[in-house]
Amino acid sequence: TKLSDNHIKLAIQKDGRLTEDTHNLLRTVGLHFESYKQRLFSICRNFPMDILYVRDDDIAEYVAEGVVDLGIVGRNLVVESEKPVEEIMPLNYGHCSLKVAVPADSGIERIEQLSGCKVATSYPVTTTRFFAERNVDVNVITISGSVEITPALGVASGIVDLVSTGSSLRLNDLVAIDDVLDSQSIVIGNRDSLANSHKSAIIERLLTRFRGVITASEYKYVMMNVPTSALEYISTIMPGLKSPTVLPTADVEWMAVHTAIHEDMFWDVIEELKTLGAQGILVSSIEKMFV
Ligand code: ATP
Ligand code: MG
Repeated sequence: TKLSDNHIKLAIQKDGRLTEDTHNLLRTVGLHFESYKQRLFSICRNFPMDILYVRDDDIAEYVAEGVVDLGIVGRNLVVESEKPVEEIMPLNYGHCSLKVAVPADSGIERIEQLSGCKVATSYPVTTTRFFAERNVDVNVITISGSVEITPALGVASGIVDLVSTGSSLRLNDLVAIDDVLDSQSIVIGNRDSLANSHKSAIIERLLTRFRGVITASEYKYVMMNVPTSALEYISTIMPGLKSPTVLPTADVEWMAVHTAIHEDMFWDVIEELKTLGAQGILVSSIEKMFV
């Protein structure tokens, strides 16, 4: 097996926090490929694409240079790399944010209080820009890992580090005092590849599949029985895709209603439906959804 010229190439993280979710996404959109931990790349059996496994730090560079056409990587690294790539699509996993944190007992509550201090981070570009934009003069120290222990070691007064649950900050007696950047896993693309008609057609097919899975993950499919008398009003509060599907039941007093509800309004709508007399509410997840 070797990489093919007619195929597009996608770089993903070889072994890390994004790897499992990325594999799941690729498999959910129907791609068949072998993946072994030791390999450098896989060839999809049923789609014109090859997958390269690399360190996440290198993905933006490979995409910018055209070594690959697409990459899946945390937005934090794309911003930090400053490489000229197209940010194509957020994937709704790998959520985290880059935050300014200080020792809980330091008395520091605002970033202005870090003026003249050392700030340790693995994101020097983003950190330097953040403090410069806020007109706070700090000395940025670049550390490649375990940034959260640097205040205890006396290396820095504060840090800028990735936080998802915050447990690592708590473990090190640190508190977040400001947000630098929100991040999640995104698809990035090489600009020449996106302008190439052969490649962009394949890329668009892949993105359509991704969209189908991501949209579906944001919705729940809801089925319920509704008193016929309340149907008209209930239809107005159902933010379904179009109007909800309404089916008769064996009892003329009741109708069955089916619809998709977005996660943002899901609980509000369900509570209101209960008050309006809906019964037997069944909720299921949607595997794929094309709108
Ligand atoms: P690699 O070996 O590929 O260089 P890594 O150790 O640099 O991996 P990981 O720790 O696997 O990177 O994190 C990959 C990405 O996961 C991060 O760049 C970020 O976008 C995302 N992420 C989500 N939550 C967190 C978190 N709590 N800490 C760090 N990264 C997180
Ligand atoms: Mg890395």
